[in-house]
Amino acid sequence: MTTPVPPDDCIFCKIVAGDLPAEVVHASDSSVAFKDLNPQAPTHFLVIPRSHYANAAELAVHEPSALADLFTTARDVAEEKGLEGYRAVFNTGAAAQQTVFHAHLHVLAGRELTWPPG
Ligand code: 5GP
Ligand code: ZN
Repeated sequence: MTTPVPPDDCIFCKIVAGDLPAEVVHASDSSVAFKDLNPQAPTHFLVIPRSHYANAAELAVHEPSALADLFTTARDVAEEKGLEGYRAVFNTGAAAQQTVFHAHLHVLAGRELTWPPG
């Protein structure tokens, strides 16, 4: 199974490679979790696969265990931080406000989270 060649300018590939600094909160064999640069809640971190896929669905097709790892990592970090609950979100496609096309799970907590989301 081949991993698509990442675009040279993918900022999340650069964070995985250590070429771009990030406040890493957790790392595993298949994922890295780090604080979002522009947090939308008191706790807002991203969990990304080390492999480059444009979105969560592509990751699910090619590396389903890595997709599951994003969620278990979110749980582990939430437990470490003592979060009572959290919201886990994949924005998929520009129309849904995806701006970085390397799959990433947003994890938000620490304030009242309303529903439906904006
Ligand atoms: P999206 O809009 O694609 O769902 O989410 C991309 C997220 O990545 C945004 O919340 C944005 O703040 C975050 N982000 C963009 N560039 C960087 C960066 O260089 N470092 C970190 N830590 N977060 C970033
Ligand atoms: Zn990438």
